[in-house]
Amino acid sequence: MVDTKELQKAVEQFRDQRDWKRYHTPKDLSISVCIEASELLELFQWKEDSLSSVDDERLSEEMADVMIYLLALSNIADIDLGKAVEEKLKKNEEKYPPEEDHLF
Ligand SMILES: [Mg+2]
Repeated sequence: MVDTKELQKAVEQFRDQRDWKRYHTPKDLSISVCIEASELLELFQWKEDSLSSVDDERLSEEMADVMIYLLALSNIADIDLGKAVEEKLKKNEEKYPPEEDHLF
């Protein structure tokens, strides 16, 4: 299992080796998260609503792209993304107890 902190470091190293820090602004990284999420959506556009309708490799690459930009944003915001996910899951657990029926 890969540690989220290690992934954040790897993304930071990739950025710094290319001198791209100057391009990693909050706005542009947030835009990039959305663009990559759109590329993920595009895989499903006009297809049957099933994982079998998309290429596995493309799916994993687009999911990775979203996460890479989230990790990059976490780096400049000094947020431990793994810890943030854990904390948000706890909040969601309290908001949506498993024993209750939740209609959206
Ligand atoms: Mg992509």
